[in-house]
Amino acid sequence: MRLLLVEDDHLLAEGLSGQLGKAGFSVDTTYTTREAMILGKQENYRGVILDLGLPDGNGLELLRSWRRDGIAFPVLILTARGDWNDKVEGLKAGADDYLAKPFRTEELIARLNAIVRRSEGRIHSMVKAGGYELDENRQSLRSDDGTEHSLTGTEFRLLRCLMSRPGNVFSKEQLIEQLYNLNDTPNENVIEAYIRRLRKLIGNDTISTRRGQGYLFNDTV
Ligand code: CA
Repeated sequence: MRLLLVEDDHLLAEGLSGQLGKAGFSVDTTYTTREAMILGKQENYRGVILDLGLPDGNGLELLRSWRRDGIAFPVLILTARGDWNDKVEGLKAGADDYLAKPFRTEELIARLNAIVRRSEGRIHSMVKAGGYELDENRQSLRSDDGTEHSLTGTEFRLLRCLMSRPGNVFSKEQLIEQLYNLNDTPNENVIEAYIRRLRKLIGNDTISTRRGQGYLFNDTV
């Protein structure tokens, strides 16, 4: 699941990006509103963490501009401690949640998962499809018969993407987009290899191939 982190404190951004990676997100980091503006329009993010005080402008303006353009990804803003005004203005500008600095990463990830979940119309931290449940917190997969499989980071991200919209065909490019950030240069064959591994786990029929189009999670098997 692709995420944009807009934060000009390099040390904080680096640490966060690593921890978000462990939580199953692939993260692009930017330090400026200018770059964030472009990335927000051209990339397909499932969520954004937005610091408000940025070197070349204000995060609120950036957020308003995204919303004016109809960009709907959920946004969590980072505000200064006790600045209630920023929180109110942020929510009015189209933010979905806020967190005051300094914060615990666990809280950030929990809030982030919550706004992404709401944007996908889910009420649980489980992604359910067919006879399977994907647990976001444990990054594991449980089948109907109660068997639990732990997943590697990439397996989890790939399955999360497919299971979030069962029946929807994802092209290899779309899957790569959600699985990796802009700094990675994965080969499309990587997706095939991971699909093979997942099929060993959940059976060939559960993930179908549409020749020339891509893959889909079959929730009717
Ligand atoms: Ca800042």
